[in-house]
Order: sequence, then C-alpha cells, then structure tokens
Amino acid sequence: MHFPGRSPALRPHLIPMDPRIEIQQGDITRLQVDAIVNAANRTLLGGGGVDGAIHRAAGPRLLLKCATLGGCPTGEARITRGYRLPARYVIHTVGPVWRGGQHNEDVLLAACYRNSLTLAVQHQLLSIAFPSISTGAYRFPLERATRIALRTTNDFLATNSSLQRVIFVCYDSRTYETYRRIAALLSEEISENRDQ
Ligand code: ADP
Repeated sequence: MHFPGRSPALRPHLIPMDPRIEIQQGDITRLQVDAIVNAANRTLLGGGGVDGAIHRAAGPRLLLKCATLGGCPTGEARITRGYRLPARYVIHTVGPVWRGGQHNEDVLLAACYRNSLTLAVQHQLLSIAFPSISTGAYRFPLERATRIALRTTNDFLATNSSLQRVIFVCYDSRTYETYRRIAALLSEEISENRDQ
C-alpha cells in the first residue's frame, strides 16, 4: 500500500506493512467481501453504531440467528451468514469498553482482531473487512486502538498465507486519517526493528 509522508524511494530500508492490508473510508455494510466484522455487544442482540447499521442492512433474519447464539464474551468472536448484506458472512466480535486502560482493554481489543481473523481462516474466507472496534460508543482512544488493530493484523498475516485482503473501513475522516498515519508510523517501526 502507499503511505503518505516520506517517499519510499528516499527510505530504501522502509518495509511496508503487509500489502494485503487496505485502509478505506466508507460504510462497511456496502462491502462485497467474504466477511464483514461487527463491533457487537455481549448480548449479540444489536445496538447502535456499526452494529445497528449491519442489522438494518442484513435484515431481521440476522437478529433471529444471533438470538440463538447465547451472547459472546468480550474479546471473542462468532460467525453468522450475512443474509441481505453483500458480504457472505458477518463475524461478530465484542470489543472492550474503555475504562481507563488498566482493565485489560489492550489485550481484549487485540483478541477481537486475532479471533476474528482466525474464524475467517477456519471458514476458508479470502477477504475480511473490519470497522474501528471499540472507538465509538465504547470510547477506546482512537490512536491506541488503531495501533493495536494494525499491529495485531500485520502480525497475524505474517503467519498466514490464505487470507488475501484485510480492509479497515473507516467511517469518518478522523478515523481514516488516523489509520493512514499510524500505518505509516508502524512501517517505520517495523523497518527500524529489522535494521537493528
Ligand atoms: P463500539 O461500541 O465498539 O465503540 P461503534 O459502532 O459505536 O462501536 O463505533 C465503532 C466505529 O464504527 C466508529 O468509528 C464508528 O464511527 C464506526 N461506524 C459506524 N457506522 C459504521 C458503518 N456503517 N461502517 C463502518 N464503520 C461504522
């Protein structure tokens, strides 16, 4: 992918993040991918934000299915069909509510990304799209969450060759700009670590 800021030509040792990672701005419910990830709550019975948008677009059969799953603990993930969505599947994961950072929030957020990616691989999916989990109603600080999202995904892809596309779908421009900036920073950090 292309990163804003410094030109790779001027930084011969710049190692980009995994090229299967894309950052887009838009509405995740419109994406034609194998799976979109829902930032759900522990009941899996729908809510506001991206969760509400996904249920509206998928239609009522998604809620009926979710009601049979018995909820989902924070950090874990569950998979359903996508019903009326263009995406074939929805992977529902429950991000942590931000409570100041001393309540395992970082570990739980990383687990959301890892467990969602693992489910996608187990179902032989090739493409998956994530929203910015926990950074809306759950108030996780955006930069910190973005770093965890990108790093966890990049590390996961380093050990996986089956997934072909992982798209981070940013709804608003602040989230989009933050993802772009942190992606560029992480590439620099990865390069520096390799150079050492
Ligand atoms: P959480 O409760 O995990 O914080 P929210 O749905 O409140 O989840 O917010 C998570 C992120 O999803 C926010 O950045 C929000 O702007 C974004 N979002 C809301 N609707 C959509 C959508 N249709 N597509 C992609 N992202 C969305």
